[in-house]
Amino acid sequence: MVDDEYWMRQALSLAEEAKENNEVPVGAIIVLNNEIIGKGSNSPITSCDPTAHAEIQAIRAACKKIQNYRLPEAVLYVTLEPCSMCAGAIVHARLKRVVYGALEPKSGAIESQSNFFESSFLNHKVTTKSGVLADLSATKMSSFFQNRRRQKKEIRTRQQEEKK
Ligand SMILES: [Zn+2]
Repeated sequence: MVDDEYWMRQALSLAEEAKENNEVPVGAIIVLNNEIIGKGSNSPITSCDPTAHAEIQAIRAACKKIQNYRLPEAVLYVTLEPCSMCAGAIVHARLKRVVYGALEPKSGAIESQSNFFESSFLNHKVTTKSGVLADLSATKMSSFFQNRRRQKKEIRTRQQEEKK
């Protein structure tokens, strides 16, 4: 059966790709008529592009693929709650529905820090579903940051050793 969890697993494998490039592990896909039309893995550092979030990459790929700047019938699956930039792009792309995994308490713009899609000035409605395979996404995030802290600590220790 093809359901939200099925598609979220595809997004999670793109989050894994981001992690392999030392980027915060976030992945996204866009599905139209049961087919993936766009994929994105978070890559702002490697691509020197602050807008290279997984969602933006997936939207760009999907629009290119169907040769349309809007995606009114498509669904975006992303492993983490979108930020304000991505929420804005989602509205510009006229996506019908957004399904995400873990919450992003610091910068999530859908329910954590704001309810962007509920803004009164928007004339497009996006439906959302959160918490799909959230544990898998949250575990990926926390182990990534744990590793990064450990690496930073190792570098600091090494530098201190060298000073001695
Ligand atoms: Zn974003």
